Amino acid sequence: MTTSSQWFERAQKVTPGGVNSPVRAFGAVGGTPPFMASASGPYLTDTEGKEYVDLICSWGPMILGHRHPAVLEAVQAALQRGTSFGAPSGGEVELAEEIVARVDPVEQVRLVNSGTEATMSAIRLARGFTGRNKILKFAGCYHGHVDALLASAGSGLATFALPDTPGVTGAQAGDTIVVPYNDLPAVEKVFAEIGDEIACVITEAAPGNMGAVPPLPGFNAGLKEITARHGALFISDEVMTGFRASRSGWYGRDQVAPDLVTYGKVMGGGFPAAAFGGRADIMQHLAPSGPVYQAGTLSGNPLATAAGLATLRHCTPEVYARLEEVSSTLGREVSAALSGVGVAHRVQYSGTMFSVFFTENAVVDFDDVQATESYRYTAFFHEMLRQGVYLPPSPFEAWFVSASHDDTAVNRVIDALPAAAAGAAA
Ligand code: PLP
Repeated sequence: MTTSSQWFERAQKVTPGGVNSPVRAFGAVGGTPPFMASASGPYLTDTEGKEYVDLICSWGPMILGHRHPAVLEAVQAALQRGTSFGAPSGGEVELAEEIVARVDPVEQVRLVNSGTEATMSAIRLARGFTGRNKILKFAGCYHGHVDALLASAGSGLATFALPDTPGVTGAQAGDTIVVPYNDLPAVEKVFAEIGDEIACVITEAAPGNMGAVPPLPGFNAGLKEITARHGALFISDEVMTGFRASRSGWYGRDQVAPDLVTYGKVMGGGFPAAAFGGRADIMQHLAPSGPVYQAGTLSGNPLATAAGLATLRHCTPEVYARLEEVSSTLGREVSAALSGVGVAHRVQYSGTMFSVFFTENAVVDFDDVQATESYRYTAFFHEMLRQGVYLPPSPFEAWFVSASHDDTAVNRVIDALPAAAAGAAA
């Protein structure tokens, strides 16, 4: 048997940091990440045979749990028919139809391979459609590793952004404007000054990437109103919330109709599939119907569309009811455990994604997030991990549950909480 430490050592020789996506390296919490060997229902099993209740669910896709029989069956059937055609296939149409049928403002979709591609392409389309260059995003919202979106606020309320990472040029970030989340007056101010230069506002429909920081009542509706008034597009990034917050995603909760929406995660059922879509008159600007270029060798891959379709079709009302029940139970129990040891905290929800902030104040934007006692999370996380509960290895990520989290799995998490809370208190 190769242990996780041995895998990690080997991995670091051949892959930067030993991982293929940074958060997996446990940089924020320290220690060696367990290397996973298999998964089933609500559980992950590492290479040493240790089982964990999975509260990441692959960062969202595994809404039905791991190895759901209907998804496996659909993928196995697709596998027999071929793994990639490079030509149109029926599964792509069915997946697009399934999305369009669920979300009224989405009249057409284009399938891509990742959430990053979806947001990147949606922004290109918004620029091509409006003939404008600038885009507005919110501090703390993550939309994948698109150059123009890896930008943070400069000094001042709404300055042009600075590159967030080496490799992104000033020019790439220079058309991005970053304002504080949940701050409509800041958005109004920018639009009052340069509204006719802004192609789009992009926002997480309900953020999970700075921890769960939901939109204040009226925030998304306000964005829609301001963008419409100025001829800019409103892009709702539902990569995390899509088909998770409800059958039609966050749109199903607030009914604010975006011009364009991005999806990923759940709609790929654990495979690389994502999409962007929206108003047909905008989508028609995409090649080959229109001039805005966008393409992909593996876009609409038959295995991915089969997994995505099977997943969406099995997201029944019972599934959503179970997600609500599990997330509210766990949030309540985490809160009770932390209260029991006198640790100030808040559990916040973006739909059924949730996270714990070590503060007693409301957390409504990224500055609030950064002001929390996030150092308390490290001990909490490691004690949960030791007891076989796999939480996000960062205090600023959301926890995800699945419909396969039955009472046994939930109770295992609850039983682990007192010792973890004691760790957070120390
Ligand atoms: N948008 C949001 C809201 C996300 O949470 C993510 C990933 O976590 C992305 C976009 C990027 O998706 P991907 O990692 O599939 O490129």
